[in-house]
Amino acid sequence: MSEKPDYYEVLGVPRDATPEQIKKAFRKLALKYHPDRNPDPEAEEKFKLINEAYQVLSDPEKRSLYDRFGHAGIDPSFSASQGGPGFTVDFEDLFGDLFDLFGFRSKASSRRPRPRRGEDVYMELEISFEESVFGTDKKIKVPYRQKCEACNGTGAKDQNSIKTCDSCNGRGVIRTYRIEGFTQIIQESTCPKCKGKGFVITEPCPVCKGTGYETKRQIIDVKIPAGIEDGELLHIPERGKPGTLGGPPGDLYLHIKVKPHEKFKRDGLDILSEEIIDFPTAALGGEILVDTIWGKEKLKIPAGTQPNTIFTLKKKGVEKKSRWGKIKGDHYVTVTIEVPKKLNKKQKQIIEQLREALNEK
Ligand SMILES: [Zn+2]
Ligand SMILES: [Zn+2]
Repeated sequence: MSEKPDYYEVLGVPRDATPEQIKKAFRKLALKYHPDRNPDPEAEEKFKLINEAYQVLSDPEKRSLYDRFGHAGIDPSFSASQGGPGFTVDFEDLFGDLFDLFGFRSKASSRRPRPRRGEDVYMELEISFEESVFGTDKKIKVPYRQKCEACNGTGAKDQNSIKTCDSCNGRGVIRTYRIEGFTQIIQESTCPKCKGKGFVITEPCPVCKGTGYETKRQIIDVKIPAGIEDGELLHIPERGKPGTLGGPPGDLYLHIKVKPHEKFKRDGLDILSEEIIDFPTAALGGEILVDTIWGKEKLKIPAGTQPNTIFTLKKKGVEKKSRWGKIKGDHYVTVTIEVPKKLNKKQKQIIEQLREALNEK
């Protein structure tokens, strides 16, 4: 374990890098060293290391363990390439995310002979702030394309509306001959008229309008875990498009979008909010009730509190399950002090007196 390079160095980020910086650095490096894109045999090793570093540094709990104890703080059985049990984000999740972002699609399923695994489905799922904090069960309609039953996927209205392409005589390719010196060169290219299919459709299927597919929806139950964050990718195995000829279905990836809350903001597991207090409370001290995600909490305001002071309500943040058990963030309250916009006569007098008294010093 001692030989392992520093995770921060692996990602090329400073030790105080923000989660965004870490994510950005990871994406950039992952794309560069992705084994499918980088033929260098060392790229794969490098890629694994990058991934491993990201798994640790992108997780607040793991990162803090790593910061405190180095590699020894991370479970020795941990290996990015194996993705041991208990890891919610695995190798494929991260890939899914990348594929999604850069518009790629998993090609793993497409070239193999039958039976085929269904395609993966990527969807955005918008949830409320509360749902992201406490978790929820959702029913989701997942659209998938399936061969049109009416035309058996041909896209034609009936048998008679499928005609052999007269440009290529059904071969799908067109040959061109050319003589170079004593050699005849035959060149084959895809038939432009039938686009390589070998047939043309004179009347399209009215059900699928000639596409050969129809879009179906399956409704599935999804458990959104408590503590999920905006931008996370939820991997639901085998809930993608159905496989063909007995092949397994693809996976479903839900890109989580959390609606902003009017009162709370989130920073990892911490919750941030603002409270307005009046001037006397700030000056003399007092107690206020603060909204937290767990309900109202009492907060002591010490005398002489300045504007924009931040108070911490320990363990009143988001709770999340990790492999070390439940972890919980804090709630940070920024206090702003309200200056009254309108004063009645009596209030004015008192404040005038206060001003005088303050100037006496
Ligand atoms: Zn043709
Ligand atoms: Zn059809």
